[in-house]
Amino acid sequence: MITFTHFSNGEMQKPQKIAVVGSGLVGSLLAIYLRRHGHTVHVFDRSSDIRTVNFTGRSINLAMSDRGWKALDSVGIGEEVRKIAIPMDKRAIHLKDRMTYQPYGLHGEAIYSISRGLLNRKMIDLAEQAGATFFFNHRIWDVTLADATLHIGETEQGAWTDLPYDKVFGADGAFSRIRHRMQRQNMYNYSQEFLATGYKELNIPPNADGSHKLDKNSFHIWPRGDYMLIALPNLDGSFTCTLFMPFEGDNSFASLVDRDSVERFFEENFPDSVEVIPELANDFFKNPTSSLVTMKCFPWTSTDKVALIGDACHAIVPFYGQGMNAGFEDITILNEMIEAYGDDWQKVFSEYEKSRKPNADAIAELSYRNFMEMSSKTADDRFLLQKKIEKRFAERHPDKWLPLYSRVTFSHRPYAEALELGNFQNAIMDKVMDMDDIENQWDSEAVEQRILHLLANGLG
Ligand SMILES: Cc1cc2nc3c(=O)[nH]c(=O)nc-3n(C[C@H](O)[C@H](O)[C@H](O)COP(=O)(O)OP(=O)(O)OC[C@H]3O[C@@H](n4cnc5c(N)ncnc54)[C@H](O)[C@@H]3O)c2cc1C
Repeated sequence: MITFTHFSNGEMQKPQKIAVVGSGLVGSLLAIYLRRHGHTVHVFDRSSDIRTVNFTGRSINLAMSDRGWKALDSVGIGEEVRKIAIPMDKRAIHLKDRMTYQPYGLHGEAIYSISRGLLNRKMIDLAEQAGATFFFNHRIWDVTLADATLHIGETEQGAWTDLPYDKVFGADGAFSRIRHRMQRQNMYNYSQEFLATGYKELNIPPNADGSHKLDKNSFHIWPRGDYMLIALPNLDGSFTCTLFMPFEGDNSFASLVDRDSVERFFEENFPDSVEVIPELANDFFKNPTSSLVTMKCFPWTSTDKVALIGDACHAIVPFYGQGMNAGFEDITILNEMIEAYGDDWQKVFSEYEKSRKPNADAIAELSYRNFMEMSSKTADDRFLLQKKIEKRFAERHPDKWLPLYSRVTFSHRPYAEALELGNFQNAIMDKVMDMDDIENQWDSEAVEQRILHLLANGLG
């Protein structure tokens, strides 16, 4: 039974015929929201129905945090999704000779590991229950922006069929066809930048009794500077590992050419991972090496007819675990605009893109920077000391200091604000870390007073 969203005056939006291109995480959640407003919703995807594709549930996993949960909870599906999620309340940092733990939040907050495949299946089920209709194996080649008509066909060169809609949402990911059409407009800004670092997935299987081989409530990191290994838990007792490393150079994908070089590299660099990844060399050569891209563009909408959402308008590198969360937050904001402006879709679209663009740019920047934090700084004693000082100060003055990670991950404050305040906090901490004998007086009154002074008087 679907509940429709009424505005405070009891009215609903005038029903529209809406197409969503892309049945990924963002497209399927958006379909649920649009159905709640009473619209006819058709979702197109070029791929087969993920519910019919055979996978073990070990496929890529994602970290869901507060922004994602808010979008799910607001349409009452958070509890369903929590059933397939595993909380991780800390980083487990695997140094070469020991392991340390770093809690994520000040109050035991957690991020949640969730299988992308299982989540996507569930979201499509929930969207269908809400009344959306899905068309799989339907590739959209183009859109006419002026009248929201989709063009679909077997091949790019062959005959196409025209499908007219009132509105079209492009939720078709980083290489969006809907955006491609917008890019051919005058004054369209677009940039795409690939990282020199790529990634490959590996697997830690469960123990014979189905239990996890590593602590299952931790996000595991093996930080090694230019490269790192991470592992997130799955429900079946396994972990999905991701190796991030440069494509070229020493210690790169190009340098790992055969079983011997891979095994030697892991024994030297991630010694405690070797015994838990039995199929290391096989997985390494079987699984693809993938690239990472940051994509920015503007505008995100065309008149009151077509809008982009999720990775289609802001693809970011994954080092803050925020790509999907940011896409879900797009939906929260779009929904707020629908509730504020009702049938004035022109206003809904323009306020949506105006609100989201600076925040998408900010999380792109923060994500890019976080590679350094994860891959190098988590292994650096000075950085760990800085985090300890910040944590102590934040606990004593919660009204004055929310650590950047918490503001991004466990709050709904705008990403742009997190970036700005994070820069200010960093500048303060640079001065604090320069204080004499900081290693021994990190928990002293003098350090606390110094931070209070800098907060009150600026960096001057
Ligand atoms: C290694 C890695 C780790 C990540 N980890 C995290 C994390 O921990 N937390 C987090 O929040 N985010 C994470 N992300 C980011 C997250 O995966 C993306 O932000 C999210 O999947 C975007 O969802 P989307 O629905 O916008 O796009 P997509 O997931 O790309 O979905 C797009 C859909 O559109 C369909 N499509 C494309 N073109 C067409 C067409 N022409 N016609 C019809 N259908 C089409 C595709 O088949 C697909 O189903 C990670 C990303 C990577 C690469």
